[in-house]
Amino acid sequence: MKIHEYQAKELLRKFGVVTPRGIPCFSVEEAKKAYETLGGGVAVVKAQIHAGGRGKGGGVKVARNATQLAEFAAQIFGMQLITHQTGPEGQRVRRLLIEEGADIRKELYIGMVVDRGSQRVALMASSEGGMDIEEVAAHTPEKIHTVFVDPKAGLTDAQADDVASRIGVPAELLPQSRVMLQSLYRAFDETDASLAEINPLVLTGDGKVIALDAKMNFDSNALYRHPEITALRDLDEEDPNEIAASKFDLSYISLDGNIGCLVNGAGLAMATMDIVKLYGGSPANFLDVGGGATTEKVTEAFKLMLGNPHLQAILVNIFGGIMRCDVIATGVVEAARQVKLGVPLVVRLEGTNVELGKKILAESGLPIISASNMADAAEKVVAAARG
Ligand code: ADP
Ligand code: MG
Repeated sequence: MKIHEYQAKELLRKFGVVTPRGIPCFSVEEAKKAYETLGGGVAVVKAQIHAGGRGKGGGVKVARNATQLAEFAAQIFGMQLITHQTGPEGQRVRRLLIEEGADIRKELYIGMVVDRGSQRVALMASSEGGMDIEEVAAHTPEKIHTVFVDPKAGLTDAQADDVASRIGVPAELLPQSRVMLQSLYRAFDETDASLAEINPLVLTGDGKVIALDAKMNFDSNALYRHPEITALRDLDEEDPNEIAASKFDLSYISLDGNIGCLVNGAGLAMATMDIVKLYGGSPANFLDVGGGATTEKVTEAFKLMLGNPHLQAILVNIFGGIMRCDVIATGVVEAARQVKLGVPLVVRLEGTNVELGKKILAESGLPIISASNMADAAEKVVAAARG
């Protein structure tokens, strides 16, 4: 789960990370008031969306007085902000952060992720702050320094100071940067984060180390332990199909192809997408209906797939293990009737009661294309999608 910059900063402040003072706003009027509350001077208007690269996209602007602030707030609030992370349609700005302006001397990068290989949290740091870290990794990987944190010891003083020195923090600022790095690590660890990034971390003209941007993602499997973080979820920022899917306990992810896939089990769903690709097709979604798929769930799954304007064909690939094929077949027939299928439907069934399942499909009167195995199913659905 993702949260907004202002929410991440509020959370990180509780752990000791230093940030500029700032006020989240939900209208231009609120933004003007926030500017007064901050005491005027130089302030920054920042679009709050769940995507980075806002600065380059025109979603971060520095205002020198109240008139400018009102102007920028009006410009950014409600805009369709396009960044390299939003996709071409962009994301509508519904929240702003009005923040005091910092006197930036140097922009640095620090980020943390879970590294599966070493089974530790990896701290990455770079002198190239403010830029896209993927760019730095691609062109100047030697400018990224990585430290693996021992979960028992946490991020030690020596590790923090060493990495800070490598990215150009001068000796007199090491105590401040140590607090930043260790606070970020504790926040990451205690909130079950999957990513925490401060880009840029800045050194200011008056000798301070502060976090100018903050991004945090959380492991959704651990959210049950953090109701206060779950409460920060902003549904406006999420794919409406994925929200609808989560209500019915379906694992659904929108993709940009044209072949809808309805599968039971995440592993089989992955394999199904792979084989569709192998036969020259392109999946419109990942969809795992789970082991206990009911008619209701299968119907919802069909509705989700059919809501996609690019959909050209559907592949249902079910292995009936605990779930019997006749039950699935009944669900598919029922669902297909309810939603009025406008695209070809290929079904591959295997497992318990498969003959009965196939009979139910054959006798349904629906134009279902039956497939005998996965390769056959993939070939048929790719051909059907081509029309
Ligand atoms: P994004 O990463 O989405 O572009 P940032 O929060 O990193 O958004 O802002 C982009 C740039 O704007 C920063 O690299 C920094 O140069 C500048 N900036 C952001 N916040 C402030 C601030 N409070 N004071 C001064 N400059 C800022
Ligand atoms: Mg940034």
